[in-house]
Amino acid sequence: QDMGYDFKKIFKLRLASVTGEMLPSDLRQKLQHEYGIAVRQFYGTAEIGTIGYECSEQEGLHILEDAVIVEIIDPQTGRQLGPGEMGEVVVTSLNRLFPVIRFRTGDLSCYLEGACKCGKTSPRLKGILGRIGEAKKVRGLFLHPKQLKEVVSKLPEITRIQALIGRRGYRDELKLKAELGSLYYGRLDEHERIAEKLESKFKELCRLKVDEIEFVREGSINENEPMIVDERGMG
Ligand SMILES: [Zn+2]
Repeated sequence: QDMGYDFKKIFKLRLASVTGEMLPSDLRQKLQHEYGIAVRQFYGTAEIGTIGYECSEQEGLHILEDAVIVEIIDPQTGRQLGPGEMGEVVVTSLNRLFPVIRFRTGDLSCYLEGACKCGKTSPRLKGILGRIGEAKKVRGLFLHPKQLKEVVSKLPEITRIQALIGRRGYRDELKLKAELGSLYYGRLDEHERIAEKLESKFKELCRLKVDEIEFVREGSINENEPMIVDERGMG
């Protein structure tokens, strides 16, 4: 494109398979809408090879059942988790040449419930949400910065959020600092409605109940600050 070619006219690319790194949704949108290329993600590791793939529905990753066994576990206890519960992806591959048993990938994901619209019956993972190290555990559930970004992307009123995890007694407390767009910050009558929306979106995507929401002016949360601040055990 930089050389002055019309990409869409010259190249007849229809389908791209991507792997190795997480695909940001805005890059997928760009490839699909601006360039007309359908994009399918593959998930795998260097040790095992391909573990899962996306079908045309683009709703999660179908597991290559004939090649691998995938478990989702709590990385601290090793306990297996159920559908919708986020944990570490652990893979077993009984390949004769290079068998791998219960390989801990360090990636975070969860099983999706129900059958895929494409008709394939293989179990699916809900994409790879990130690395274990970037996530914090709140009341037994993982919270990852990528989930926060997803919440923000669903709410046009909010430009940025930060999660503050504290502790009261034996309970983790979750506070959200949310930057409101300049259109909404001054409109106090709108705050309650937006707070309710944020709370329910957060519950839906992160499966956690928010204890407190604080609205701040756009630009108040520094870009370099972490999206999740863990204040537990700091006095
Ligand atoms: Zn499918």
